[in-house]
Amino acid sequence: MKDNIVCKFGGTSLANAHNIENVKNIVLSGKKKYVVVSAPGKRNKTDTKITDLLIKSFNLSKENKDFSAEFNLFKERFEEIKTYFNLDKINLTSYYNELYKKISKHDDYDFVVSRGEFFSAFLIAKVLKYEFLDASSFITFNSDGQVELKVTKQKFLSLVDKNKNYVIPGFYGAKLNGKIKTFSRGGSDITGAIVACISNIKTYENWTDVEGFLVADPRICNNPEVIEKLSYHELRELSYMGANVLHPDCVRFLRENDIILNLRSTFNPACKGSFIMPDKVKINHKNLTGIAGQKGFTIIHIEKFAINESLGIIEIIANIFKKYNISIEHIPTGIDSVSVIFKSIYLNDTNKQKIIKDINNQIKQDNLKIIENVALISIVGTKLKNNLEIEKKVFDSVFKAKVNLITLNKGASGLSIIFAVNEKDFEYTIKTLYNSLF
Ligand code: ASP
Repeated sequence: MKDNIVCKFGGTSLANAHNIENVKNIVLSGKKKYVVVSAPGKRNKTDTKITDLLIKSFNLSKENKDFSAEFNLFKERFEEIKTYFNLDKINLTSYYNELYKKISKHDDYDFVVSRGEFFSAFLIAKVLKYEFLDASSFITFNSDGQVELKVTKQKFLSLVDKNKNYVIPGFYGAKLNGKIKTFSRGGSDITGAIVACISNIKTYENWTDVEGFLVADPRICNNPEVIEKLSYHELRELSYMGANVLHPDCVRFLRENDIILNLRSTFNPACKGSFIMPDKVKINHKNLTGIAGQKGFTIIHIEKFAINESLGIIEIIANIFKKYNISIEHIPTGIDSVSVIFKSIYLNDTNKQKIIKDINNQIKQDNLKIIENVALISIVGTKLKNNLEIEKKVFDSVFKAKVNLITLNKGASGLSIIFAVNEKDFEYTIKTLYNSLF
């Protein structure tokens, strides 16, 4: 019998037979009981993910165009895996035919798109000599499109045998009427987290192509270390700023259920990866946790005498942005000014003029400035909480870097210091701060 470990392997880890061989070694030597898999991903930079092949086939068929090239490529990739693992006796013809028919009719998008994970799990179960457990037999969506965790758990427990081991396709489940429904892209992470929650385990392993969460972006900083341990709180502060390795709903499930998440690499299993700990666990941090950032923000800076005493001003501003479907990232305020920071993708020439007009009409400000090409940088660490020494170190480094800070904000959580800089200073600032703080 295997240990009660739930692990999930991403698309790159399963991109070809050679990578699947790595996965096989990891699973069998590590005694993993539940293995959740993605569809095979890209084998190289120019390759196409299996899920994208399915989406393309579906869209071509909808336009009454020929999708046979994409469909054949889909088949070839799974046939290649079969041949490598001597699984020629496994006949997938009826499954291929069913899929072909569904694509031709192009009326069941979720079913079609889910088949990458289905075929992947079906074959990997054979490779590992594990049971195949279809996610649609237990992951249940209610009519609002949310997963019914209680029902899902009941069904799951009625299906699994404690003496058997299982491979489960990620990314989809079924609605109450039995029809397949997928999660959003990258959703196999969510399946992994759900299986972890309903099987009452303490640690969930998410195997990807990165060695864990890094202290900083390796494209900017030289050889940043893997963060050994961090809290979900810290992970949110970092991922929000760009380290998006995991689907946010996966993190939500794990965090709510106090499950430890171990992020590690299929390509370097000797590296223990990062452990994300439940918020109640005290982590003994020796240093700050990480530095992250993102370009592509805009700031609208509003100046008005005694704006701080103007009742309901934030509500008025929030409503203007809501009207144009713009979510606000931060609102640093002053005595006579308020700055609104948001993602530049939300702004276009038409709504820009309308927003300015609404602000003019509703706030009657003294001055309004739009600052574009802004980057946000966040220094994250529990160490920042009530630790003057560390805070001093951060500010010393910022001033030593001589960068022009547009805004500066110690987040309400106390776990991060966020500042806005001009996009052209972004890489330099991250690099300089990384070198002096980590
Ligand atoms: N195969 C799906 C996608 O490409 C789901 C996943 O890999 O998590 O988004």
